[in-house]
Order: sequence, then structure tokens, then C-alpha cells
Amino acid sequence: MSTGKHCEAVRVVVRCRPLSRREETAGCENILEVDDKLGQITIRNPKAPPDEPMKVFTFDSVYGWNSKQRDIYDDAVRPLVESVLHGFNGTIFAYGQTGTGKTYTMQGLSKDPEKRGVIPNSFEHIFTQISRSQNQKYLVRSSYLEIYQEEIRDLLCKDNNKKLELKENPDYGIYVKDLSSVVTKNATEIEHVMNIGNQSRSVGFTNMNERSSRSHAIFLVTVECSERGPDGEDHIRVGKLNMVDLAGSERQSKTGAKGKQLKEAAKINLSLSALGNVISALVDGRSTHVPYRDSKLTRLLQDSLGGNAKTVMIAAVGPAHKSFSETLATLRYASRAK
Ligand code: ADP
Ligand code: MG
Repeated sequence: MSTGKHCEAVRVVVRCRPLSRREETAGCENILEVDDKLGQITIRNPKAPPDEPMKVFTFDSVYGWNSKQRDIYDDAVRPLVESVLHGFNGTIFAYGQTGTGKTYTMQGLSKDPEKRGVIPNSFEHIFTQISRSQNQKYLVRSSYLEIYQEEIRDLLCKDNNKKLELKENPDYGIYVKDLSSVVTKNATEIEHVMNIGNQSRSVGFTNMNERSSRSHAIFLVTVECSERGPDGEDHIRVGKLNMVDLAGSERQSKTGAKGKQLKEAAKINLSLSALGNVISALVDGRSTHVPYRDSKLTRLLQDSLGGNAKTVMIAAVGPAHKSFSETLATLRYASRAK
């Protein structure tokens, strides 16, 4: 499954979920074929004449309907978290249409250990590594926020309707003013923090799915490590890990959004396209201008995208023929990023 490109700064992988029971009963056709050895995904236009050639996309890795949460973590995410433990920054995104498995991939299902997603697996990884360390002291802090309509909310604060501001400081770079930051000592504690934030995401909104599909949720883990050097001085290195469950990428014109909804949609599309532009500028390498300033999301993640930071984009897709055009759009977006 791995193509051995772990050292690259930006990795793009695609995960295809199985047909859902509802899609199966509705007689949905599968239009995707996943070749995990070649890292290729083939998409068939269900309305095209049979002789029309199918489109083939190649990525760093692709994962089919029966891929395990563990495979995704070990293959695509573990090297990035490893580098965070060494003091580098990193960002993992889940991108895709609503219902394709972004939250499943990032959070997973907590009741079944095999179905735990990237975020809880990273907690376990980080604290296992820390418990094995001998000469280092660690401090792990976490924050959890949501960007909705270009406004930032703290998911760990009781007064979570307060809008927070992005600030810039010459020493620390970009940060969110007044954002809660919780120190945790083990995986159970940090998982508790995540659960509190998840609950807060749904408070006050009649339709949780509606909202979560329209907002970006960022779980930030800061790992500070101090080690006594041969010179007798303590050396501190800090790595930041951003885990982002992005808003649904579906184009709103299709959903018949009007008025306020349409404005909201424009903002979602703005930050997703700003993200796409930043990543493609980084991948291109020759771009002299990386447009971080174009959205809150990219500004906030500026020091964790590019430079020494590693990025993994997990594009989530579904196999049903009904979502052909959205799936094609996701594959195009993802292939622009590599
Ligand atoms: P999104 O966050 O992109 O809107 P979800 O993560 O909520 O999508 O997934 C939609 C549904 O599909 C959920 O019921 C989820 O459990 C299921 N699902 C997603 N990915 C997988 C997968 N790889 N294997 C099994 N079920 C999945
Ligand atoms: Mg979701």
C-alpha cells in the first residue's frame, strides 16, 4: 500500500468507503475501482457510452472499501506524528463530500478499538512514545476549535459561542487569542478532552449533521519536549499536530441553497479553495507566493503547512454512481495537491 514516499512534505491519499446499506438497497452501482498496489483509482462515468475511456488518478496511496483504520494510521499518518514528536509541525486533513467518511476516518467509532480513527490513534501513539522515553520530559497540551462561516469558536470553553480572533505575534507567529489549552498526562485524559469538544460541537444546533458538514473542526495537539543536552542546558523543542475534519466539499448550487445558506456555502468553498491553492503552491515548489492569507483556515495553519512541516491530505470518496460528479471533483482536488 505504501509507495515509499514517506519523506515528502505533502502526501495525498484517497480512501473509498463501502457502499452503504441504503445505497445497496437502492441498487446503486459502484463506479470506483481501487488498486492499492499501484496507488490508482479508476472512476467510471455512469452516463458515458461504454467505449468512453475511464479516468485514472494516481496518489501516494489509495485505500479500498475494506481498508482498516490501523492501515490508514500506520501507513499514512504515523510518520507525520513521529515527526511532531521530534519537534516538527504537521497537519492531517480529511477532505470530501458529506457522507464519505471524513469523521469516520478522523474520529472513528469509539466503542470498537479496531474502529478508532486517526485522532484517538494519534493519542495512543504519542503517549506510548512518551512512556518509553528516558531522558526527555514532555508536556502535551490540546485545543479544539471550529471554524464556521469564517468565525472561530473554542470547543473546549463553556461559553463556546464567543467568537475568537486570530492574532499575529512576532515571537509565536499566528495564534488564536483566548483559546483554551488543556494539559493532559495520558491517552485517557486527552480522549476525554476530545469527547468534551465533540459534545460542544452539537450544542444549540438542531441539526448536528448540518452544522458539522459546514464547519471545519481542528484538534490541535502541542507536544513540548525538554531534554538535558551534553552542555548541561535544557533544550526545548515544540511540535504541533493539527488534525482537521473539513467541511463537506459538495457544491451548494446542487443542493438548492438560497440566501443565508448560499452565503455560508460561498464561505465554505472559499476556505476549501484557499486550502487547495496553498497546498498546490507548496507542492509546486516554484511558487514564490503561497496564499495563506486568503482564509482563516489557511492563516491559522500557516506554520504547519510548508516549511519543515509535513502534511497529509486524506480525500474521502464514496463508490455510488449517484455521486459521480462530486467524487470526480474530489479526485481532481486531491490530485491537484500532489
Ligand atoms: P462525513 O464525515 O464525511 O460526512 P461520516 O464519517 O459521517 O462521513 O461517514 C458516513 C457514514 O459512512 C457513517 O455511518 C460511517 O460510519 C460510514 N463509513 C464511513 N467510512 C467508512 C468505512 N471506511 N467503513 C465503514 N463505514 C464507513
Ligand atoms: Mg463528518
